[in-house]
Amino acid sequence: MVRVNVPPSAGAPGAVFERAAIIAVGSELLGTSRVDTNSLFITEQLNVLGIEVAYKSVVGDDRVQLGAAVRFALDHVGFVVCCGGLGPTDDDVTREVVAEILGRPLTEHEGITTRIRDRFASRHMDMPSINRRQAMVPADTLVFNNPHGTAPGLWIDEGDRAVLLLPGPPRELKPMLATVVESILSSRSPHRSLVTQVVRITGRTESHTEEAVQSLYREWARAAVPVSATILASLGQIELHLSARAGSPARAAAAVKAAALQVSEAVGLDAYSLDGRPLEQVVGDLLVERQFRIALAESCTGGLLTSRLTDVAGSSRYVESAVVAYANSAKVSLLGVPQVLIDQHGAVSEPVAIAMAEGVRASARVDLGVGVTGIAGPSGGAANKPVGTVAIAVALSGSTRSQQFRFVGDRERVKRQASQAALDMVRRELLL
Ligand code: AMP
Ligand code: MG
Repeated sequence: MVRVNVPPSAGAPGAVFERAAIIAVGSELLGTSRVDTNSLFITEQLNVLGIEVAYKSVVGDDRVQLGAAVRFALDHVGFVVCCGGLGPTDDDVTREVVAEILGRPLTEHEGITTRIRDRFASRHMDMPSINRRQAMVPADTLVFNNPHGTAPGLWIDEGDRAVLLLPGPPRELKPMLATVVESILSSRSPHRSLVTQVVRITGRTESHTEEAVQSLYREWARAAVPVSATILASLGQIELHLSARAGSPARAAAAVKAAALQVSEAVGLDAYSLDGRPLEQVVGDLLVERQFRIALAESCTGGLLTSRLTDVAGSSRYVESAVVAYANSAKVSLLGVPQVLIDQHGAVSEPVAIAMAEGVRASARVDLGVGVTGIAGPSGGAANKPVGTVAIAVALSGSTRSQQFRFVGDRERVKRQASQAALDMVRRELLL
């Protein structure tokens, strides 16, 4: 870290930042080919220090837009982290825009020029003159060397506000942010760790979940370590993100853990994971615990159920085999489903799902068999069995359970919901 005409207060314990704004700079981030991932990393690092991200924005390499974004952020939040736009080319304007807003002239910092020149020299190259731009530094700035690239990072204090400029490439930004945290932010943060725990729920809607947990929100808000909750609905599942801030990570973690247990009490078995594990992993862990092996017979899911189960590392401990029996004839020949069942009830019916589950369980000689048959659409529906009708059966020694569902949505959504429901039926069976 190099100090450039730095006032004595800079970098020393000064204003403590409770909140930050992140501005990701780069026109490529506004297109469809590049995604801003830096802000996620920055957020993670700030949260550990107890600094909350108030908001973030993505701005192109545009002086006017970037200027407006930086001004707004400084007015509203007081600690602004910009990443990107520190390169040597004309389109990299972050340094200049920030210097102009803060009214600090840019001057060339010989130390940085030398570093960049040495970096080129180590590759037997001359430094292109445009790289001098990267050595232009506003007055009263802390400079962070970039061991992985040419653009240095800059920390600029402005009264009780501050701006941090970081290079865009993640492999340059990450180590540099670690240095900034160590040398400045660790003494300028509230030191209240933010811990988040994700509870995952299936088998009830977002509103039903909200209804069940709403009374807890008030209780959590008044607690010694308050817990806040965000509810997120996605296909076939609800996520409840519980966050708490406390003087130590352990205290914050204890508060969210206690809240997660309360949610689990309120919604019962519908809460399938209190620690963010996906459903396929929860099922896998239960299979390991019970020392059961599983075989799958899939029709409308076309292997998706097996694919999800085998996404989990170590699934060979419990996945035995799978049969995708799409045609009726395959259900008969590969799974031993009696043709008469298909004729009487139709291929999408609980009796056929049961025969599929029991057939695959018997032929694979395992503890647990699953059968899934349904109409994913868009065609193939009928008045009594519209698109989205799916029958699922779970066969366990001595007992087979089945259920018929009506999912809504396109083909992909029906398949996904069917796989989710099948995994959930297996989970509930294993918990009995
Ligand atoms: P820069 O020259 O500092 O603007 O950074 C350019 C390189 O960093 C490009 O490869 C970008 O795609 C990458 N980059 C810039 N900003 C981000 C960001 N917010 N998240 C991930 N990569 C980024
Ligand atoms: Mg850029």
